[in-house]
Amino acid sequence: MSQKIKVSVLGATGLVGQNFLRLLDGHPWFEVVDVAASPRSVGKTYADAVGGNWLMSDEIPTHVKNLVVRDAQDFDVIPDGVNCIFSAMDLPDKVDTRKLEFAYATSGYALVSTSSANRRVDDVPMIIPEINPNHTDVIPIQQVNRNLPESGFVAVKPNCSIQSYLITLAALESAGYPVDQVQVTSLQAVSGAGQAGIQSIEMKDNVIPFIGDEEEKTENEPLKIFGSVSENGIVNSNQIDISAICTRVSVIDGHTAVVHLRFKEEVPSLDKIKTIWKNFRTLPQENFFPMAPENPIVYLEEKDRPQPKLDRNTDKGMAVSVGRLAEDKFFDIRYVALSHNTVRGAAGGAILTAELLVEKGYINA
Ligand code: NAP
Repeated sequence: MSQKIKVSVLGATGLVGQNFLRLLDGHPWFEVVDVAASPRSVGKTYADAVGGNWLMSDEIPTHVKNLVVRDAQDFDVIPDGVNCIFSAMDLPDKVDTRKLEFAYATSGYALVSTSSANRRVDDVPMIIPEINPNHTDVIPIQQVNRNLPESGFVAVKPNCSIQSYLITLAALESAGYPVDQVQVTSLQAVSGAGQAGIQSIEMKDNVIPFIGDEEEKTENEPLKIFGSVSENGIVNSNQIDISAICTRVSVIDGHTAVVHLRFKEEVPSLDKIKTIWKNFRTLPQENFFPMAPENPIVYLEEKDRPQPKLDRNTDKGMAVSVGRLAEDKFFDIRYVALSHNTVRGAAGGAILTAELLVEKGYINA
């Protein structure tokens, strides 16, 4: 790419925003030229606005430190040349977030969001690039439905809770072993609740057996991802049933999923399943997208893996680590899967989605 695509990061001061800045530093296709957040941060340099709350292990990227934080609602001061927006902002009301994201699209920006605000909207693609890259086909429909300019649209990535296991299901499906029922118990890191989660005293030495709306998202979002594009939008799949219990555990980063699964038809052997997972590679791997892991699924034979501390950063935090595959007494198989919630489950997943959108010509320099 001769010229980098200029991007703005909304919610840049938050946990996911910080991960965007870290992962986009030195990215071969994208260059951060603008940061935005809430009125609390507006007018400050990024370094002052984030203050002591910079939680990444690397320093704040030098070119970002002195950018002046823009109000995410103020479009007048978006630098010229920006045409891609990464959104990691959370307004108090989801309806406001939904409207603001579409206000960017209406102004001609391609917006890729980590928020849940637009995930259930039929003409908004919700993408895991290894699984449903064809769902970008709904973008022209969205543009017609909403009278958007050619360069403007909203795309989203799904909830962090499903990233750990959905790709393992997709691999089995695409190898010809359709999945019937899944029972999943998630053990989700405190960073999944943003900066407030990390600082929350109630999470010390504790497990909270409830996360608001998480079980509904975990059960429903996969149906959209496995769905198909129709002339009006995405139609959810009705081929798979998921039952979820979501818990918050005392881990900083990395969501674990304990999965029990029943197949519709033939049950592959455990060795066959491991081979399917190890060989699973799709468009992002075949086309060498910069953010793509070499192997989206890494199977670990050790009995005590995957573990968040040891495995969440596998392949830049973009690979899903899987282990403990076994036959189950009640279902066909069970296993444990892990992914980095703020990387694969948020900023990294959104960047990979934007790379797909560049590849398909929806985002241009
Ligand atoms: P966070 O740490 O609480 O950060 C929230 C960000 O939103 C901050 O930059 C904040 O800016 C900004 N913000 C708050 N009110 C705003 C307003 N009125 N106008 C503009 N910006 C505003 O949360 P996070 O964990 O980074 O999550 C960000 C988004 O990603 C959320 O929608 C979340 O659901 C989603 N997500 C998070 C994860 C995860 O693992 N954490 C995973 C997947 C998706 P100030 O600093 O100026 O207040």
